[in-house]
Amino acid sequence: MLSAERFSGLKGAFLPMKELAGLTWLRVGGPADWLFSPQDISDLQTFLRQCPTDVQLTCLGAGSNSLIRDGGIAGVVIHLSAHLTRIKHDGTVIHAEAGCADSEVARHAAKAGVGGLEFLVSIPGTIGGGVIMNAGCYGTEFKDVLIDVEGLTRSGEPVLLAPEDLQLSYRRSQVPEDLIITGARLKGQPANQTEIRATMKQMLSNRAASQPVGVRTGGSTFANPDGGKAWQQIDAAGCRGMQRGGARVSEKHCNFLVNQGNATALDIEQLGEDVRAAVNAHSGTELRWEIRRMGRLIKAQTAKGAADGRT
Ligand SMILES: Cc1cc2nc3c(=O)[nH]c(=O)nc-3n(C[C@H](O)[C@H](O)[C@H](O)COP(=O)(O)OP(=O)(O)OC[C@H]3O[C@@H](n4cnc5c(N)ncnc54)[C@H](O)[C@@H]3O)c2cc1C
Repeated sequence: MLSAERFSGLKGAFLPMKELAGLTWLRVGGPADWLFSPQDISDLQTFLRQCPTDVQLTCLGAGSNSLIRDGGIAGVVIHLSAHLTRIKHDGTVIHAEAGCADSEVARHAAKAGVGGLEFLVSIPGTIGGGVIMNAGCYGTEFKDVLIDVEGLTRSGEPVLLAPEDLQLSYRRSQVPEDLIITGARLKGQPANQTEIRATMKQMLSNRAASQPVGVRTGGSTFANPDGGKAWQQIDAAGCRGMQRGGARVSEKHCNFLVNQGNATALDIEQLGEDVRAAVNAHSGTELRWEIRRMGRLIKAQTAKGAADGRT
């Protein structure tokens, strides 16, 4: 059994039974057995070097693409967006730690007169989560701007990975299972600050017009199927506004599931499965979850399609 006494020299908080719902956009889910918020990369290294290899580790960035189940997460959740937030630039190369908010990186780039990273302003995640998800919008994704990725192995060894090592594709990556991303270098090009800011403003206003804002959601629930749009298939299957417990398919953007305030993680996951079943019955399409579902069901809960780990 894990205990805080097992570790020496940690600078960041290492706390048992910490609620995770507040660290995610969907605001649901049970606690982490342990939550570690490293103060910096060497602190994370200190932790990894002492952590028993049989302890499950789960990274959490901004929690904007994560659905944590009601039974919480076993082992240690490593919360990277608390402190790993340094950003710097050298010419048109931006170096950001894994916990940096994408929007902060976009703003840093704008101030430095670096264009090409404007899309980051409208993704509510972190650099680490962005690499894992190959996040993107408005025609650009991480794959297009990534120079390399820094990380730590399970035993705390630093590694540097090239984009080819990560096999980034539409909302997917093949990052080694135990790798913890600690930072990334992104490339831009010289651009006019006023134009960069105007582009970012336009992106944010387009988003406000097409997506629910200020609600508890995980963004796009399903990846777009080949040659189509998930929202169109969901709409055609009659799922707009569909509900399960406190969870609802957004009326404004029907690929978004919304926690109306009292949803459980199971409500959201089952609503997602209801949508998948309806779409499959209507068009034969198998929608793929883009939101990462993680953690344990609470006793007596069952969820069709429930699966642990990175999906
Ligand atoms: C309102 C809204 C709008 C959105 N719009 C978009 C959009 O336009 N385009 C888009 O692509 N996505 C979008 N998303 C989804 C989400 O913002 C992105 O997928 C984002 O990149 C996730 O980053 P995160 O830090 O929140 O990841 P999290 O949800 O914290 O984690 C996602 C996955 O990455 C892993 N992970 C996180 N950090 C690390 C790390 N440092 N090392 C190893 N593994 C890690 C986690 O374990 C998990 O498996 C949207 C979400 C919301 C809520």
